[in-house]
This record gives sequence, C-alpha cells and structure tokens, in this order.
Amino acid sequence: MALQSSITKVPLVRDGRHVIVRIQYSDRKRLEKHLFQRYPDREWGTFFHFGFRRTAWGIALSYVGGLWPESSDLDRQSDIVEFSDDYNLRAFRSGSTSGVGVGVVHSHPSGYSTHPSALDDDMDDYFARELSSYTGGFPYCSLIFQRNDQGFSFSGRVYDRGEWLPVKTLFTTGEVLQRDHSELMPSDSTGYEWTDGESTTARLEALLGEPSALRLQGSCVGIIGCSGTGTPAGHLLARAKVGEFVLVDPQRFAPSNHERFHASVYDDLMSNPLDYKVELLARLIQSVNPHARITTLVGNALQDNVLDELLRCDLILGCTDTVHGRVFLSDVAKHNLLPSIDVGVDMDGDNGKVTTQLTQLTRYSPELPCAFCNGVIDTNEMAVEFMTDEEKRLREKAALEAEARGEKPDSYWRRQRQMHTVGYLTTTAGAMAAGYAEGWLTGAFAMPHAAFQFDLGQERLGVVPTPPRQDYCICGQRIGWADQAQSYRNVARPTHWAPRALLLSSGAV
Ligand SMILES: [Zn+2]
Ligand SMILES: [Zn+2]
Repeated sequence: MALQSSITKVPLVRDGRHVIVRIQYSDRKRLEKHLFQRYPDREWGTFFHFGFRRTAWGIALSYVGGLWPESSDLDRQSDIVEFSDDYNLRAFRSGSTSGVGVGVVHSHPSGYSTHPSALDDDMDDYFARELSSYTGGFPYCSLIFQRNDQGFSFSGRVYDRGEWLPVKTLFTTGEVLQRDHSELMPSDSTGYEWTDGESTTARLEALLGEPSALRLQGSCVGIIGCSGTGTPAGHLLARAKVGEFVLVDPQRFAPSNHERFHASVYDDLMSNPLDYKVELLARLIQSVNPHARITTLVGNALQDNVLDELLRCDLILGCTDTVHGRVFLSDVAKHNLLPSIDVGVDMDGDNGKVTTQLTQLTRYSPELPCAFCNGVIDTNEMAVEFMTDEEKRLREKAALEAEARGEKPDSYWRRQRQMHTVGYLTTTAGAMAAGYAEGWLTGAFAMPHAAFQFDLGQERLGVVPTPPRQDYCICGQRIGWADQAQSYRNVARPTHWAPRALLLSSGAV
C-alpha cells in the first residue's frame, strides 16, 4: 500500500528500543517469491507466524512460516494488498490456537520506498488491536519488502503492550549470514578508517573483497567462554575489524590460564583480586580497535540477560567446552534462528608423550543437525556440570563407599575429566573458529563439513566428519518459536544458579 505516508496512528517509541527479525534463507526465498510475484508495479502480501522474546533492548523475533493466502484471500484486481475478511479471520483464529505470534508482510512496488502509507497505518492499527486480543497479548509485527536493481530494502514495526517499536535489523541465516538494515532507521555502523595510509585490513580486503571487509565491520560476534579458544578468536576478529562483541565468561583469570590465554600480560598475575576473563579480553580487543563496541557479562549463557545480549549478535562462537554450552547453542540455533560455531579441544598424554591432540568444530544453524543428531551429547556429563558443590561431595563420598564394598562406583559419581589443554592447540582451534566465522559472515568460504574433528598428531591430520545420526530426532519441530518453545528446550538454567549474569559493561547502541 504505497500511498502518501502518515504517522498519526502509529507513533514509534524513541528510546532506542527496537526489534531484530531473523529468518532462514530458504524461508526468505519463498517469501520473496510470493511477495514479488506481481512485480514490478503491483504489491502482494501474506500473514505469517513468528516466535519472539522480549529483552531489555526490545524484541527478538523469529520467522516460523507463512500463513499463505488462498485463491480469494487477496483481491487480485487491486494494485495494492487488500485482505479479505475470511483471510483476516483465519489469521486471527490462528493467533489464538497456534501458540505463536501473527504478523503481516507486504511488498511495495519495485523502486518505491518502504515507508508505510496512510492505508498501512490503518491496516496495522486494526490488526494490532485484533491480534493482540486474539493472541492474549502477543506482539503484532508488520514488515514491508521492496526489491529493485539496487537491491533489497525493508522496513518494519512491532506493536507490543500499547507501544510501537521500529524493526532495525533483518538477519538471514543460511550458507551466508546476511544482515539487512531497515531503510527507515539511522545506520549505526562504524564507518571509520584508523590510519591515513594503508588500510590495516588491506590484505583481508585483497583476499575477501571490500564488501566482506565492510560486512565484518558491521557485525556483532558473541563469544561464550573467554579462555584458551575464546581469547585467540576474539583477538583475530578484532584485527579483522569486527565492530561489536558480546563477551561471556563466569570466571576470573587464573595463573594456570596464562600459557594459553591471549589477553593477559605478566602484571595481571599479580592483580588482587585477579581480573575477570571478560575484562582482559575486552582490554585486548580495545587495544587493537578502540572503536569496537564491547559488552561484557560475567556469567553463563543460560542466564536470562546473557541470552538477551547474545540475540543482538550475527553469530556466536561457543568456546566453553561444556556439554550444556553445546546443547544451549543447538537449542537457540533451532528456536531463535541464532547461528553458532562451537569449538572444543581434547588432549591426552602418557609418560611425557602426547597421544591425543583433538579439535572439534561444529556449526549450529536451524537447517543443520542439532547436538543430539550429531551424537556429541553425554547427558551424564551435563548432569555433573549442573550439580551443586554439596551434591558433588555427596556423590563422590557415595562412590568411594561403593568402591569399598567392591561395587562399581560409576553409578554414583563419574569423575570429571581433567582437561589437559595446551596453548598451541587451543590457539589453533580458536583461530580456525574465527576464520570460519569470517567465512560464514562474508560468504567467502565455509567449513568443509557441518561438524568435524581432527588430530594434529595423526597422519593426514586424522580428519573425521561427524555424520548426523540417522535415527529419529525431533529437532525439526518448532523452528523459530523462540520463548514460545520454552518447554521444548533441552537445557535450562539450574535453579541454584543466579537468574542473571553480572553486566560489567555495555556496548549496545
Ligand atoms: Zn504499504
Ligand atoms: Zn536433532
């Protein structure tokens, strides 16, 4: 409905709160094919379903699927989109039965602005009121798409609890991680040059191209686990000029980390108390790029405000080497359409000889196998990660008593593996994860397998792709359902953990 614009019915909030929309590449292709079918001059539209999460900065919304119009649902004679009463009612009813939100997306003619028209305002005002009552208070989302020779543009707004929030970013997840910025929102990219002379990323630009360099500058990368693999990854991404970081780690730096920790200097060993790992990595990133925006959280990905901040990211690097961390990444890839690369290392030795130097890299994305399909999840190990210290002591005691009686102690307590990790391997693994992140964000290259392992000490590096398990898995369900899939999560914060992480600094704009 590309007529003269009016903003009277739909006043947007002006306090910085906004909406981020995520969609899978295959869904976006199908949606665009539908919306642009009467191009270049005539519009088209559809209702759609979405999941959502309300956060401190606004709403993270994820596309679930189209509620496609049937033959008489839209008026084919009209140049603009006109929804029939039957179609409206079908959409309203699905709002009360589907368990997810309902929105509208329509196209504007090729070459037109995506500024909402007065008719769009009328439509959104009506749908927002009806749908919020049919859904029992879920948000209502309205998007406008346009494509022409110059490319794609969009705008959007979301009604929630009496207010209208602007949609700022559209993330598309697939072989390439695409980021589109709303035509109606001011840009927040960091368009700066550090030096008057040669660009500090001249070699990267020569290899990946200038658009890729700009793509990295406009990206936000989350790093969960800021130690052996997380610090080299953050270091390299800072040098590649990634513009924004969300750093998450619960621990303070310890002297035994120094051998593989890229962010500490000698003096840090004398600090009392020792600094948090996220503070030291933030300092390193800032020393490389003072323009980088950095959010630091002392905590765990399962805490509420950590997920909120991670949902602002283009991509997450999972550098924790924990089972629950992997399950979390797998869940949010499916439910929130938030992609990630998980990296883990495993070393072992005997009498001064190193026998295992394993690195495992796994890509999580809504269209890829989940952590359970990949068969990498040991639920017993995850249970141990969630035990209280008291529980661990009791279990250990029970195991010792069982052993004394001549029984197998494993049913009581399986000792956690002592991680023998050394800097050259964690650095290699972290650097590879950073490289694959750059490749995925820019589309320049991809991991050779969705998941694979290799061993530095083996012939031909012992590369093994981890094939997805063939038996049943229900991970193809409730994709994009966000918080509405809460009861289908495979992992949740144990009740003895604090609900929120400590936010040390915020780089959000
Ligand atoms: Zn319109
Ligand atoms: Zn699965």
